[in-house]
Amino acid sequence: QRKQQAANRLAAQQKQEPITFQGRRISLLANVGSEAEAEAARQWGAEGIGLLRTEFLFATSATLPDEDEQRRRYVQVFRAFKGDATEHIGPIVVRTLDAGADKPLPALEAVLGTFIEANPALGLRGIRIHLAHQELLRQQLSALLRAAAEVDIELHIMFPMITTVEELRTARAIFDDVYIDLKRRDIAVPAHIPVGIMVEVPAAAIMAVELAELADFFSIGANDLLQYTLATDRTNASVAYLYQSMQPAVLRLIRRVAEAGRSAGKAVAVCGEIASDTRLAPLLVGMGVNELSMAPPALPAVRAMLTTTSARKVLETVEKVGHLSTVAEVEHALLWEPR
Ligand code: PEP
Ligand code: MG
Repeated sequence: QRKQQAANRLAAQQKQEPITFQGRRISLLANVGSEAEAEAARQWGAEGIGLLRTEFLFATSATLPDEDEQRRRYVQVFRAFKGDATEHIGPIVVRTLDAGADKPLPALEAVLGTFIEANPALGLRGIRIHLAHQELLRQQLSALLRAAAEVDIELHIMFPMITTVEELRTARAIFDDVYIDLKRRDIAVPAHIPVGIMVEVPAAAIMAVELAELADFFSIGANDLLQYTLATDRTNASVAYLYQSMQPAVLRLIRRVAEAGRSAGKAVAVCGEIASDTRLAPLLVGMGVNELSMAPPALPAVRAMLTTTSARKVLETVEKVGHLSTVAEVEHALLWEPR
């Protein structure tokens, strides 16, 4: 199996044909949470990093790294993905700190104090922490902008757990402020940074039309979107039977978000585990998603699926699935045909 993996990885590095679906360009990107994974992403032929989880930076030490330390660590990750490439290497989409609930960060507690919550998944987490302690968000944004200019990569930034339009307005205003401030101080920053959101809370999916006016892109965090839509703790084995990516309720929400993004001319990505499911990947693309981001070793199989599946069948299936009501029915409907 190891030999097969090595062979797949080698094949993935060869020059690949761009994937298209009905004339639309589809990108396959990697989810990354460390320097080593950034290197793996390049080795597996990822067209970019679709989700850089920045919690790794805060998880390893008992205290929070300051802005310079953060910048240094981001530079290492960006360089690990860039390798010795001289040509354009595709975007690196960085998610601002998503602490709390299933991602506890003791280092953060050292700064914010211990907060004990009855329902951490519904509590102070993700962007909520950053809006309550804006100096931390400013620090992270500033470190990211400086690192991106230093390594010369295409940086995109997204906020996790956005629930309301007001939250996005506030977070964007802070970003603009940090950006302008760095420029005023003559510190090098990239010329243009798309700023988007993770869509992982049902309220955000329902308000996708309004959020699309404010966000430059959407990245659907299906892991949490499943958890919150199905009211099912993603870490609780007793209710794992409910936590299923083929739940029609979730698929309908995803379609709604993809359509809202497309009508507004904004890119829509999926970065939850379902993006690497070869049965679901064609469906997501058929719904209007244009980027799939996943663990690097999953890339070749998804690529093979998307380049061999009949687009006509995919579009038919998208319509059909929209009317189905159970997981079993959806599973049955996802039978792809070759082109
Ligand atoms: C998600 O929620 O789908 C996601 C990609 O983020 P995480 O798994 O890190 O919460
Ligand atoms: Mg999430």
